[in-house]
Amino acid sequence: MTSPLILRGLCKSYGGARVVDGLDLELEPGRCHGLLGPNGAGKTTTLRLALGLIGADAGTVDLLGYPMPEQAALARRKVGVVPQIDSLDPDFTVRENLLTYGRYFGMKGREIEARIPYLLEFSGLAGKADAPINNLSGGMKRRLTLARALVNDPDLIFLDEPTTGLDPQARHLIWQGLRRLIGQGKTLLLTTHFMDEAERLCDVISVLDQGRVIVRGSPRELIRQHIEPHVVEIFGDGLNEWKTCAISDPAAQRLSTLSSPAGGGGAGGEGFCRRCETAGETLFCYTDTPEIVVAELEAQPGLRYLHRPANLEDVFLKLTGRDLRD
Ligand code: ADP
Repeated sequence: MTSPLILRGLCKSYGGARVVDGLDLELEPGRCHGLLGPNGAGKTTTLRLALGLIGADAGTVDLLGYPMPEQAALARRKVGVVPQIDSLDPDFTVRENLLTYGRYFGMKGREIEARIPYLLEFSGLAGKADAPINNLSGGMKRRLTLARALVNDPDLIFLDEPTTGLDPQARHLIWQGLRRLIGQGKTLLLTTHFMDEAERLCDVISVLDQGRVIVRGSPRELIRQHIEPHVVEIFGDGLNEWKTCAISDPAAQRLSTLSSPAGGGGAGGEGFCRRCETAGETLFCYTDTPEIVVAELEAQPGLRYLHRPANLEDVFLKLTGRDLRD
């Protein structure tokens, strides 16, 4: 099957700064693709280029066989878009919003009417068809925005941070809907800041930084390839003293990586901690042998710790750093 979206050598600059810098991306049909990256990495610009909302300075975009932005109007009729910010019409009811949006796609009233029961069921809003938008909760609005994006039964759906601002229950309902779409064989391109969301939903993840894809793979592959398998997060009274002691213990060389200028990186003492990082008041020990770290910590009554398997967030922070990006 041909790819529904192919980006090749894509470049876009604003005010002389390269925002998208030679980006290549090819979506596999029927898969959920995650586009992750810190703020300013170029995710939204990439989505806008892919949809032909803006033109590239260099490179090509092929969306469903149409070159972008030249044939954007044709291609966009066949895709679904869930924007970062809801753009529902507050003067209309739930049903009227779906009708209006369908007309925007050139669908006939009858055609849209026939689709509305499915969309209401999909969004869990069957009882709210005649409710004004302002009577809906944030989660309901988000589900309606998702349902609205399906009005034209698209095979490819763009989702820009679909669960930002939602509470955990509302996020779970959106995930349920997205999994249903994935089960139906739809292709999804999803940007998110939630690593648990990406880990749950995405088959393939591309991590973007400074306008380029820096790594690509399934969540499991990325975790296996880029991070130590275990993390021990350490905090509490006496952490600094314990760190100092561990660094200066030449016999064990346990936390030797801590003495590196960035506070982490490089190979550490064998059998203890391969890599350590400090973030705020927490020390993150990345290790193959958590039992050795935990045994040591058990002898430190003032310290608290959390031992867990490494996850996608650890990979993301390792690859893109812990510094704030605004
Ligand atoms: P992300 O979605 O990964 O946070 P964006 O694609 O929104 O990143 O933005 C990448 C960079 O491009 C940011 O530094 C942003 O300020 C800049 N940028 C995006 N759109 C414009 C624009 N229309 N004009 C000027 N700068 C822009």
